[in-house]
Amino acid sequence: MCETDDMKPTADLSVAAALAAAPPAIKTVAFPDRRLNREWQTMAAMVKIYCRDRHGATAALCANCAGLLAYASVRLDRCRFGAEKPTCAMCPVHCYQRDRREQVRVIMRCAGPRMLWEHPLMSLWHWLDSFRHAPAL
Ligand code: SF4
Ligand SMILES: [Zn+2]
Repeated sequence: MCETDDMKPTADLSVAAALAAAPPAIKTVAFPDRRLNREWQTMAAMVKIYCRDRHGATAALCANCAGLLAYASVRLDRCRFGAEKPTCAMCPVHCYQRDRREQVRVIMRCAGPRMLWEHPLMSLWHWLDSFRHAPAL
């Protein structure tokens, strides 16, 4: 069980409202590039761990976590660095809204250590990716 504070729900309810109409199962998203796919899979795995440990979710995510994951997928899709992106934590731009960024911080604090055990290869890749620098804009 996560010992960290729970993330604060976002004020943007549009995604959550849309998800309320359908079960918020983890959506499969495929990006054309391996690097972006890896980022996506890492984020999805962390949100899944967090939602399971913090919100008791099993097969599907709760509406708040599904909303955050949907938001992250849009940010990743529109990332100005594309396949050359650094990890978001090391990004000099950071395109996330303030409350979304805080939610990701809370999730990483909770799920980060568990990722080592549950997804060691993904964790290794993410660590290696953390040495990437953002290309000059
Ligand atoms: S935070 Fe930076 S690296 Fe992450 S998606 Fe936004 S622009 Fe791209
Ligand atoms: Zn959740």
